[in-house]
Amino acid sequence: MAINYIYPEYEVVRNYDRCISCRVCERQCANLVHHYDTKRGKMICDESKCVACHRCVALCPTRALKIVKSDHTFKENANWTGEKITNIYRQAESGGVLLASMGTPKNYPVYWDKILINASQVTNPSIDPLREPMETKVFLGHKNDKIVRDQYGRIKCDETPQLELQVPVMFSAMSYGSISYNAHKSLAMASKKLGIYYNTGEGGLHEDFYEYGPNTIVQIASGRFGVHPDYLKAGAALEIKMGQGAKPGIGGHLPGAKIVGDVSKTRMIPEGSDAISPAPHHDIYSIEDLRQLVYTLKEATNYTKPVIVKIAAVHNVSAIASGVARSGADIIAIDGFRGGTGAAPAAIRDNVGIPIELALASVDKRLRDEGIRNDVSLVVGGSIRSSADIVKAIALGADAVYIATSALIALGCHLCRSCHSGRCNWGIATQRPDLVKRLNPEIGSEKLVNLIHAWQHEIKEMMGGMGINSIEALRGNRAMLRGIGLTREELDILGIKHAGE
Ligand code: SF4
Ligand code: SF4
Ligand code: SF4
Repeated sequence: MAINYIYPEYEVVRNYDRCISCRVCERQCANLVHHYDTKRGKMICDESKCVACHRCVALCPTRALKIVKSDHTFKENANWTGEKITNIYRQAESGGVLLASMGTPKNYPVYWDKILINASQVTNPSIDPLREPMETKVFLGHKNDKIVRDQYGRIKCDETPQLELQVPVMFSAMSYGSISYNAHKSLAMASKKLGIYYNTGEGGLHEDFYEYGPNTIVQIASGRFGVHPDYLKAGAALEIKMGQGAKPGIGGHLPGAKIVGDVSKTRMIPEGSDAISPAPHHDIYSIEDLRQLVYTLKEATNYTKPVIVKIAAVHNVSAIASGVARSGADIIAIDGFRGGTGAAPAAIRDNVGIPIELALASVDKRLRDEGIRNDVSLVVGGSIRSSADIVKAIALGADAVYIATSALIALGCHLCRSCHSGRCNWGIATQRPDLVKRLNPEIGSEKLVNLIHAWQHEIKEMMGGMGINSIEALRGNRAMLRGIGLTREELDILGIKHAGE
């Protein structure tokens, strides 16, 4: 055994009494873990390649497999964990940055789980959503502070275009290239059925998906991949990506191995070339520069589409958001540090940024204090995991949420956090045709629709319990929230009282 041997993180446990050597697991594992040993006449495996994606477990016809976390351990302590020691071995060997995918697995506080929702009792009756109408529709974009009427008394509707959502959820940016054609198609089809929007990410829009334009947000990132006039006109809204929660302050990187066929054509870059988007937009070094791009995009689309500016949640996010609100943007999207990614340096993903809950509360407060809250809508993302997270986000001041990891889980993702390898066994974060076809977009879109419908029901139940019958009345209604186990400072930032107060 080599001296640089690192014990595998997972063990593949095969029950040989059940295994019928059908070799399904061998065919299903793109990481080449399982093999049929002809000499011994039995299945064997190389556990060092296993990422715990559970594809083989799910498809084994005799339920002969399970994946367990290895209990092999270092003589670790609270300071020097096995992970820290292993990472040093890996970097001492490779000299390279450790890449990671999906959101940070670190044990930072999840504030959603330290916030509780109110319910009416006696004096303020609750509403039964089965018997009474409940409004989950929201409009995103700049709103006038007061109603303006023309000389005939009619309300003047000279608002900038709005995005109309039947439920306050959108699918966040995931580029074609980082995820597969079938994953993009599932998101596009589900958005159309649900009356919401999905987001192209920074990879351009595949020509097959132009028909979903009315439900598409087209993104303009620092690399400008796939950006051209028809692309801008195709979307219902335009999103300038300034930052991403999982990797604030750095650009994107899609390895050349994933730039194949239609991905290369859609991004408008040669096959096999790495798609590296710069850390900053090279034409944006101030709010004034950002304003120029906002208005360039509005001009290019005849002022018919709202412009979103997406920023990562960082230390001075409220001041940044205040500047963005003055840039002419219609919507600000804020991405928290637990947000997912197709690929990012693990050191950045796990150590940079701030939680979305604190960022949202401080941005909403600042915009209110400055009297510009209605100039923009706020959309937040970065690990929204349930209908309760959505209700809490809206009560903290969001107009709507972006989800990405939750949507991928609905498509079958098992959170193995190895999207950057390009060997997603569930057909989501891959461009390998044999893997892509494992995801059926018809079934995928159905699952997404089911998930959002289920969440919509739960949102209505929670709103009804509070005696609130519309999302608009819930937005920023922090009296409906209480903290549990939080410090006074955390409560102050969140702008909520402690449970019992
Ligand atoms: S899929 Fe199950 S039954 Fe078939 S070879 Fe693998 S472990 Fe054995
Ligand atoms: S990588 Fe996935 S499919 Fe392969 S052995 Fe591990 S759990 Fe099974
Ligand atoms: S998308 Fe695929 S590779 Fe990425 S975490 Fe999910 S299952 Fe793993």
